[in-house]
Amino acid sequence: MKDYAPLLAKPYAEAMVERFLRYAEMDTQSDRHIEDIPSTKTQWNLARLLERELKELGVADVSVDDHCYLIARLPATPGMEGKPAIGLMAHMDTASDVPGSNVRPRLVKGYDGGILQLAKEGLLDPKDYPDLAAHAGDTIIVTDGSTLLGADDKAGVAEIMTTLEWLLAHPEIKHGLLEIFFTPDEETGKGMDRFPLAKAKSVACYTLDGGKAAEIESECFTAYSVHAEFEGKVIHIGAARGKVANAVAMACHFVSLLPRSESPEATDNWYGYYCPIEIKGSMERSALDIYLRDFSTEGMERRIAAIKAFAAAVEAQFPLGKISLTFKKQYLNMKEKLDQNPAVLEKLEKATRLAGAEPESKPIRGGTDGSRLTEMGIPTPNIFTGGYNYHSKHEWASVAEMSLAVGTLLTLVTLWTE
Ligand SMILES: [Zn+2]
Repeated sequence: MKDYAPLLAKPYAEAMVERFLRYAEMDTQSDRHIEDIPSTKTQWNLARLLERELKELGVADVSVDDHCYLIARLPATPGMEGKPAIGLMAHMDTASDVPGSNVRPRLVKGYDGGILQLAKEGLLDPKDYPDLAAHAGDTIIVTDGSTLLGADDKAGVAEIMTTLEWLLAHPEIKHGLLEIFFTPDEETGKGMDRFPLAKAKSVACYTLDGGKAAEIESECFTAYSVHAEFEGKVIHIGAARGKVANAVAMACHFVSLLPRSESPEATDNWYGYYCPIEIKGSMERSALDIYLRDFSTEGMERRIAAIKAFAAAVEAQFPLGKISLTFKKQYLNMKEKLDQNPAVLEKLEKATRLAGAEPESKPIRGGTDGSRLTEMGIPTPNIFTGGYNYHSKHEWASVAEMSLAVGTLLTLVTLWTE
C-alpha cells in the first residue's frame, strides 16, 4: 500500500480541498450547440468568484474580458523580473455528457480501498476502477452518483489558486512573472477561439487538465470534425419504389461503413479512430457529425480520404440522394512544437521528480486548450490534476495527488528562474 500521509499532510491541502469543493458545487456546464463564448451564462459565476478570490489573495492585476477569459498576473519576485514569464491555465467549464448541476461532492477521508456506495445512486467499485484500489489510505472526493464531479477541470483551477496563495504567503520562493489563464468552453472545443493571445506574455504555459498523478501529456490527437448532410428525395412511401432516397437510411448506412475496429471503444494509446457523435433528421434530410482522430498528419489525411470514399459509396447506393461534407480542423498534435522547445518539458519533468513522483509520458486521446495554445505559439504541455473517470458520474479525485500537483507547480515556477 502506498503511503499517502506525507502528501495529505501538506500545509496547503486543506485550503485546496475547500476551494475545490466550492468550485465543484457550481454548475458551469458548457454547451457545444451554442456558438457564443461563453456558451453558458453560468460560467460567468465562477469567473467572477475567482476574480474576487484572486483580489482577496492580493493579486492586483486580474481581469475578466467580454468572453469570460480571466487573466491574472503575479509579478516576479525581486530580482527575477528578467526571467521568462510562465503561464498556468485551467478551464472553468465542465462537460455536458452527464448532469452537471446540483453537484454534491463528498470527501471520503481515510478511504479503505473497498466498494464505495454513492449517496444517491450507484457505487464505485475498485474492481471496475483499479486506480481506485491503489488509493487505500488516501482522502478521495466522490460524487453522489447522479452528476459529474467536475474535477475536470476544477481540480486544476483549485490547484492553481492554491499555488498562488502559497507563493503570496511565501515570498522567499523565487519566480518570474506568472500569468494565470482561467478559460471558458474547453469542453466544446472552442476554448481557445477567443483567447486573448495579444495580452499573453508567457514564453511557455502549462495546462492543469490531466488525470492520474505524474502523468504528463505532451502529445495529443490531431483532430478534425466532419459534418455530413444527407439530402433525400421523398414522395408518398406507398408509391416509393425507385423514386425515393431515404435520408435516414443514408445516414445509417454511412455510419455502418465506419470501421468498427477504428472506433474509440476499440482503440487506445496511439491508435486513432472515427466516432459518430450525433445523428438527426427525417427521410427528407438528415445530418451526421463525426469526429476523426489520429496522431499524425498522414493518418488524418487517410481518414479524410476514407470519409470521402464512404460518402461516394453511399451516394452510389442511393442514386436519388445527395451528400455534402464539411471538414473542420479542431486541433493539431502539439508534439512537434514541444520538441522544438525542449526546456518546457524538461523543467516540468524535473519539477515532478522534485515534488516526489516519477513523471510518465502519455498521449492525450483528446485535445486540450494547451494543444491549441501550442499551435498559436505558446508551447503548452498538460499536467496531471489527480482527477479520475472524467465526464462521468463516477468521477473522483485524489487529494494526495492534487497536493502533488501543487507541489509540482511550486517547484516548476522556481526552476524557470534558473
Ligand atoms: Zn478538461
